[in-house]
Amino acid sequence: MDGFAYTRADQPETAVRLAAQPRADFIAGGTDLLNLMKDSVERHNHLIDINSLPLSGVRETGGRIELGALSRMSDVAVHPAVRRGLPVLSQALLAGASPQLRNMASIGGNLLQRTRCWYFRDATMPCNKREPGSGCPAIEGLNRWHAILGGSDHCIAVHPSDLAVALTALGATVHTLSVDGPRSIPVADFYVSPGHTPHVETVLRPGELITRVDVPVTELAAGSRYLKVRDRATFEFAVVSVAALVRMGGGVVREVRLAFGGVATRPWRSVAAEQALIGRPLDEVAIRAAGAALVRDAQPREHNAFKVPLVQRALSDILNQFGRNR
Ligand code: SF4
Repeated sequence: MDGFAYTRADQPETAVRLAAQPRADFIAGGTDLLNLMKDSVERHNHLIDINSLPLSGVRETGGRIELGALSRMSDVAVHPAVRRGLPVLSQALLAGASPQLRNMASIGGNLLQRTRCWYFRDATMPCNKREPGSGCPAIEGLNRWHAILGGSDHCIAVHPSDLAVALTALGATVHTLSVDGPRSIPVADFYVSPGHTPHVETVLRPGELITRVDVPVTELAAGSRYLKVRDRATFEFAVVSVAALVRMGGGVVREVRLAFGGVATRPWRSVAAEQALIGRPLDEVAIRAAGAALVRDAQPREHNAFKVPLVQRALSDILNQFGRNR
């Protein structure tokens, strides 16, 4: 690991001023960042420790729940307001990482974790995301874990965050602070597709700090669910996952929001799948139509074609849970 300077910031304004310098970055739980630095995937010459900033805690206020960016995954997952009002969020957090990592990892850090693409994590391999223009060996190589949706000729890496999938389905808003001041970004606009620039993963500017995430509390969110399919039950990233918010009325779907993980280069909301369900009973015909709409533009590769039927089955599974309870 390269040497770096370390500063513990006690005010958000100080932190963002320091982080605006070239090759500086924030550190909170450090559960991803330190591994990336040890493996020479990321190099920083200055880390600004933000753990002393007043950005922790869960607050219920005026129809929304505010999650401080420094709140730990484990604390948010078991918070009574989150369990009651946003079950999909609690379930997604508890399905992510190990208990030890959840005790360390922050909400803001979770949203910014880097892809688990093994070529990206191996600094001896070419990778457009780590080194723009060097190539993408995953496209013709080992791509079992890679995306079937949202990829480009330059990158097909999957976004790894379960939390981000749940927040996408919930329609959350990310709040930030930079040297230019505060701003609010809908989570739907927070992540960017790889296109020609896979090293650009979010709309955050250099030195911009996530301060909190606001999640609307609605009737739809109160009955939400998360389903994650993974290779082992203890601690693993999603092969496919689904966050579903469904409101039934008169035997048909009145309102629905669906987001998917493990299959796309960013947390993936499928409006087409949602539209296939609106106004219809949650029967096999409607569920099959939603699954078909979801994968209509899928681009499977040599080793990940199995994700096409798998994500449709996961969708069917979770929708049937709502169907049983209507
Ligand atoms: Fe790099 Fe993306 Fe290709 Fe993986 S899929 S090797 S992250 S460019």
